[in-house]
Amino acid sequence: MNVDPAELQKFSELAHRWWDPAGSFRPLHEINPLRLDWIDQRAPLAGKRVVDVGCGGGILSEAMSARGADVLGIDLADKPLRVAQLHALESGARVRYRPSSAEDLAREEAGSYDVVTCMELLEHVPDPESTVTACAALARPQGWVFFSTINRNARAFLLAIVGAEYVLRLLPRGTHEYARFIRPSELANAARGAQLEVEEVRGMSYSPLTREYQLGVDARVNYLMACRKNP
Ligand code: SAH
Repeated sequence: MNVDPAELQKFSELAHRWWDPAGSFRPLHEINPLRLDWIDQRAPLAGKRVVDVGCGGGILSEAMSARGADVLGIDLADKPLRVAQLHALESGARVRYRPSSAEDLAREEAGSYDVVTCMELLEHVPDPESTVTACAALARPQGWVFFSTINRNARAFLLAIVGAEYVLRLLPRGTHEYARFIRPSELANAARGAQLEVEEVRGMSYSPLTREYQLGVDARVNYLMACRKNP
């Protein structure tokens, strides 16, 4: 199976803090409105069938559901999934959650989703290409698949690991491993190999001065990629 148990362990240990906007997952809370609008502008979410792959505690899943999407969140770590379920009970969000990998769900429900989101997951799996292929398989023809991950170069090492984990302490140490970062060209190749058309690559950067994230052309560190499945 395409999973690293040490990665699941890491996310499970921090799961109780998932919805703390000032806690270990603060960056996910801060980038959420940006990525949500970016997705919604390309694939208007109201009424769409969406699967959120590697949903964790459900920050994006709930937000997409609030925009009117019918959302299924899947993840392989139980604690984050339980946190997601509890949070939905409290917030009243109508998201369904279930433990599954993208590959397993794709065997049961290929071609069933209008929108597939796979955010901040590819850099945590042993075989990202397999995840990309499974995400593509989950999408219906003409459906959208959105990825986000971290680029691999000296600047990404300095900012995403040294800066974010050691200097600014935006993320717990050990969250990311440099060798698992993925260049946009590599992700685009995997996407094209899985019958996806790459529509857009968008950079996401953090300014330590304003302490804000923004979307832009600079994809040297964090980036998002929008793809569409070929008919
Ligand atoms: N996508 C969410 C959470 C990102 S954190 C967001 O952006 O808000 C990464 C998540 O991926 C964690 O919840 C972790 O448990 C999950 N994960 C790691 N490996 C996985 C795998 N092989 N299959 C499914 N989920 C996985």
